[in-house]
Amino acid sequence: MTTITHETLLSYLQSGAESAFLTAIFDLLRARDTDEPGITREAFGAGEDAAFDLVEALADALGLVTTRDAIGNLSAVWGADQPGPHVIIGSHLDSVPHGGNFDGAAGIVSGLMVLARLVRAGERPAQPVELLVLRCEESAWFGRAYVGSLTLLGGLTAKDLTRRHLRSKTTLGDCLAARGVDIAKVKAGERLRDPAGIAAYYEVHIEQGPVMTARGFPVAPVTGIRGNRRFLMNSITGEAGHSGAVPRWLRRDAVFAYAELISALDAHWQVLMERGIDLVVTSGIVGTDPERHSITAIPGEIRFSLEFRSQSEATLDAFEGLVRAECEAIGTRRNVDFALDDVLASAPASLDAALTRGLTEAIAELGLTSEALPSGAGHDAAVFSNAGIPAAMLFVRNENGSHNPAETMDLDDLAVAVDVLHKTVLARIGAKQPA
Ligand SMILES: [Zn+2]
Repeated sequence: MTTITHETLLSYLQSGAESAFLTAIFDLLRARDTDEPGITREAFGAGEDAAFDLVEALADALGLVTTRDAIGNLSAVWGADQPGPHVIIGSHLDSVPHGGNFDGAAGIVSGLMVLARLVRAGERPAQPVELLVLRCEESAWFGRAYVGSLTLLGGLTAKDLTRRHLRSKTTLGDCLAARGVDIAKVKAGERLRDPAGIAAYYEVHIEQGPVMTARGFPVAPVTGIRGNRRFLMNSITGEAGHSGAVPRWLRRDAVFAYAELISALDAHWQVLMERGIDLVVTSGIVGTDPERHSITAIPGEIRFSLEFRSQSEATLDAFEGLVRAECEAIGTRRNVDFALDDVLASAPASLDAALTRGLTEAIAELGLTSEALPSGAGHDAAVFSNAGIPAAMLFVRNENGSHNPAETMDLDDLAVAVDVLHKTVLARIGAKQPA
């Protein structure tokens, strides 16, 4: 295997050998971060640091103005001396443990390629265009997603700083302090950047779901980012009994009660979907205790998780109401007790209609068919949007989902995303369209 150097990557970028660049940079990232099965780029770890250094070196060599903020987010600006708020292209470089090579990195690589195109065209932009590489987007590491973007915009809380690292058990606060971050400022919710200095935030990201492959869309604009409600661990308590000796009418079977709850929620979900309401419902952890229960015993207790997501806060409220009402009704009917955990809520984020229209138009101009999709997963774009900054996202088709080693993406699809983003940014900054 030939070794890929920074010089090789830079020569591809400067000469416009884009497909060679795409292959080489993802090969390099994969070679560095392989952690079988899959790849690991730990937030605030060596892999993320090295990926940041690589992007910074390439951006510097392209002649972009690079800086790092207090938490280590990297900014690379073209037209830094121009007036006006920045048009930002951002994403992250960390991965979940044993994840894929493209979650996050696809957005940074496509942003870098758009900036390289602008530099190669030699035109001075009417306003600064910036690649923003955000730290620690994945919640896998500290149980808190969006650490870099929240710190940037003043949304990280004192409680977030007490969260412990998945492996080292160091708190986020201690980890940041060790990296020279002024923790007092973070605790005070002091933002690192004024949202007024940001005109727009664009993020390219792999879809992480199966819809685009099924529909044949290489790229698609994103309508909004789903918020969620989570009941982490809930229980239903009935009464254990001999499986042969207790008649139906005297049973207090926790598993049957759980099955009825899920069936009822599924029926509600179907009705809501038929009305065109955005919702997804998941109960991913469920079980009786095998130490206490057996094939010949009526299960007296079951524990389960419950999560649902929607782009609409009103839908989340309404569905939470349905969950509570069903638990009560089924509990009465089956003589069992439902105990729901405290609900954890994350607000949905709407993306900017005008920016999204720009992406849609660029897709149409390239002669491609597409349709806007909701984002089921969270992204840094939600933080920007919730801070009042116009934000938009472009999904790239990918296979085998994400957050797993099998995650994959066709580099040709990412090349299409680069074309769409490039066109959109040019239209946005009023620069001449390429022939
Ligand atoms: Zn991501």
